[in-house]
Amino acid sequence: MDGNTKRFMMNQLMWLGIYFAISIIISILVPFPYSLIILIGIILGLAYWRRRRMMRQMGSSAGMFGNPFASKGIDYYCMNCGTKHNKAECPNCGSKLKKAGF
Ligand SMILES: [Zn+2]
Repeated sequence: MDGNTKRFMMNQLMWLGIYFAISIIISILVPFPYSLIILIGIILGLAYWRRRRMMRQMGSSAGMFGNPFASKGIDYYCMNCGTKHNKAECPNCGSKLKKAGF
């Protein structure tokens, strides 16, 4: 079991504990038929909040990937002989005419 799985399990256990504690507190404070309704409301609300928080975390990590085309440079080809070069003049024939290619 790696650290990530362990953390996920701990998180699930923590939430199970929170749900358990909330259900005990509500069943003590509120009489039975109402406690059940309140409990379902709280569980649904927490589930919604957790999902929204998770979506936000995923959204922020997606920004790390950047533009894959940004680092790729443009190559120039001589229009006279077709040699690939990045200089002002073609090293093969000396022509100053060149075109950009990928
Ligand atoms: Zn050339």
